[in-house]
Formats: sequence, C-alpha cells, structure tokens
Amino acid sequence: MKYNQNRFSNSVRARPQSRFQSRPKKRFGENIDVSRFIQKASVSAPKIEHKIENSFSDFKFADGLFRNLSARGYVTPSPIQDKSIPAISQGRDLVGLAQTGTGKTAAFLLPLIHKAAKDPKQNVLIVAPTRELALQIESEFRIFAFGSGLFSAICVGGMPIFPQIRSLRANPSFVVGTPGRLKDLAERGILNLASFNNVVIDEVDHMLDMGFIIDIRNILSKLPKERQSLFFSATMPPRIRALVAEFCRNPLMVEIRSGETSKNVDADIIRVRDERSKFDELNKMLSTPEFEKVLIFAETKRSVERLSIDLIKNGFRAGSIHGDKRQRERARALTEFKTLHTNILVATDVAARGLDIDDITHVINYTIPQTHDDYIHRIGRTGRCGKRGKAYTFVH
Ligand code: AMP
Repeated sequence: MKYNQNRFSNSVRARPQSRFQSRPKKRFGENIDVSRFIQKASVSAPKIEHKIENSFSDFKFADGLFRNLSARGYVTPSPIQDKSIPAISQGRDLVGLAQTGTGKTAAFLLPLIHKAAKDPKQNVLIVAPTRELALQIESEFRIFAFGSGLFSAICVGGMPIFPQIRSLRANPSFVVGTPGRLKDLAERGILNLASFNNVVIDEVDHMLDMGFIIDIRNILSKLPKERQSLFFSATMPPRIRALVAEFCRNPLMVEIRSGETSKNVDADIIRVRDERSKFDELNKMLSTPEFEKVLIFAETKRSVERLSIDLIKNGFRAGSIHGDKRQRERARALTEFKTLHTNILVATDVAARGLDIDDITHVINYTIPQTHDDYIHRIGRTGRCGKRGKAYTFVH
C-alpha cells in the first residue's frame, strides 16, 4: 500500500470547521509560509561540481593513517577534504563553510592526527555543540588514530564528570567536548586550555543558536596566541564573521555546498484539523511499508517523549532523543535507530543537530520548525548520498 497524503489532505479540507473550535495557540513557526514546505525532488537539478584535485596519497600522511582511512573505505577525498587538507597541513587557519554530510570531520581530523603524531607537543581541542556530535567525532578519531599512539578524552555534559577528569589526567593529545563541560573542567583547573595549540570549533552556527557564544569566546580567549584555528559552519552570519575576525589569523575560506541538502527530497504538507487527527494520520503513515526508517521532529522535550511513548503503545518500534535524557539513553536510542532495532526516532531539533544517520527514508515535522534554517536542516537528514527522501510537515 502506498501512502497517499493528497487524498487525506483533500478530505480534511472538504470537512467544515466547527465554529466553536478553539483557536490554536500561537506557536513558533506560525509565520512561516507553509508553501515553503512543498517541493518536488529535483535529482536532475544542476549540482555544484567540485573538481577533486588531490588523491589521499598526495597528502603524504603517515602509512598507518593512510591504512586506517583506506580501511574506513575512503578512496577519494570529498571536496571539503580536497580543499582543506593541504591548507591545514601547511598550518593555516581555516574557515570551512560546509555542513554535516560533506566529510568535514575527516577534513580536520586527518591533518591534525598527522601533525600530532609527528610532534608530541601538539595538543588539539575540538569543540562541538552537542554531545552526540562530540561522541561521533571522538569515535572517528579513534578509527583514524588507531596504532598512532595518540589518544583522546571526551568531555561532554550529561555524563559523569569523574571518568572525564581521570582521562584528562592521562594527558591526551586530543580533547573533544561540548562548551559547558569544557568550561567547567577548565574552571576546576583540570583542563589546561593554555596547552592547546590547535583548536577546532565545529558547527559554529549551531553553537551560536544554542547560546554558547559566551562559553566559546571564553574558551578561545584562554588558548595560546600561537595556535592553528579551524572553524566549521554551514552559514556565515555577521556574528560568526566577527568571531572569525577576532580569533583566526588570515584564515583560508573554503566553501562547499553539498548540493544535496534538500534537492533529493520530496517535501509536502499534511493538513490536519487538530492534535487527535494529527496523531491518527501519523499512525496511518507509519503503518505503510514505505516508511522504513523515519525521523520525526517535535518541538519540546516533553512532546518528543510523549509522542514516542504513544507510538510504542500503538505497537511501533520507536525511540527518542532530547536534552532531558541521560547521555547513555540518548546514545542507546541512536544506536538502536542506526541498527534498525527501532525504525522510528522522535527528536528535538537540538538533539538531532549534526547527526549522520544512513538511509532515513522519511522526515516528519510533527511540529512546524521555528525557522526556515531549522526546516532545511531537518529535511536534510533524508535524501543523503544521492538517494531520494521524503519530508512531510503537519500543518493545522
Ligand atoms: P561528516 O560530514 O564528517 O559527518 O561525514 C559524513 C559521512 O561521510 C561520514 O559517514 C563519513 O565517514 C563519510 N565520509 C567522509 N569522507 C569520506 C570520503 N572521503 N570517502 C567516503 N566517505 C567519507
């Protein structure tokens, strides 16, 4: 059976609205023009082509690092890697305008691992906006640094601090963390910011959205002046330009548009009368076989939790991630979704930032995103790597 939302939306539109129906509460996102949630995938749309100029062997990485990246299945550098790695290897500061899915993690990890493996005086601090992204970066680090003798510490909130303190005492050359916990550890005198002569700030735009600007400035201002600074961000609003001007030295700007953010996504809206019919409609959708791996966005931590519980009660294999969950629970929900123990993940925007999950067939905006940027970010979780995806947005 194919899910046919048009039939449904027509039938709802035909139904007369009760005069006594209460006005929906004013909510975020209300002033977004819903026609922006409708688009046909345009797989034939011209993509911005980047001519790849280097092969991985051109980067002259140590043999072990080269072996690790080959074992990881990397054959050709992605555009951001092709353009950034030579500059980073020369020691230049860099601002990468690229989003998740472009290969930006390896673009900074590979040359920094090479640098630190050659020179034990190099220490690298990597700051990410969310715990999940920090954990993802650290697990990539472990794969690439295998056999190099380099090791790392993870410093993120929502996890016990004492194991993190213990791992910092072992003097790792790579520390990956979220701003709040890093600042906390620095204030306790356990993390010596002055020892990091390399810094990566990942997803700077999301850091600012999440209110981390003060923490980031605080961390950056305590690093040594002589250092290499790498900033990555999907967008470059004036506040980020100012941060770059203050904390980077003559950075090379590398802009990569993945060209697949939403081009491969069929997007449509689903009109519903009220919360009840919205939930019924969601159940109908999820019961059709084509909804194989579904990411559902809702607005608040509570509504995410509620929705996942209601779906489980209705017999679906659903999990959830949001900021009120313990780190362990969030990681478990994510692994279960990645390995298809569950096929539905309900998430808040913040918890889903930067997640790299394969083969999501559908993104459902159970609530309207607050901004168009959030919308683009949400639907970009599907239709990745040249595949087609579908996105539906519920509107009242
Ligand atoms: P990122 O944008 O860093 O989150 O990377 C997105 C995905 O692309 C990850 O699953 C990476 O392992 C993968 N990836 C990154 N670079 C390459 C490459 N050169 N070849 C193949 N896969 C890659």
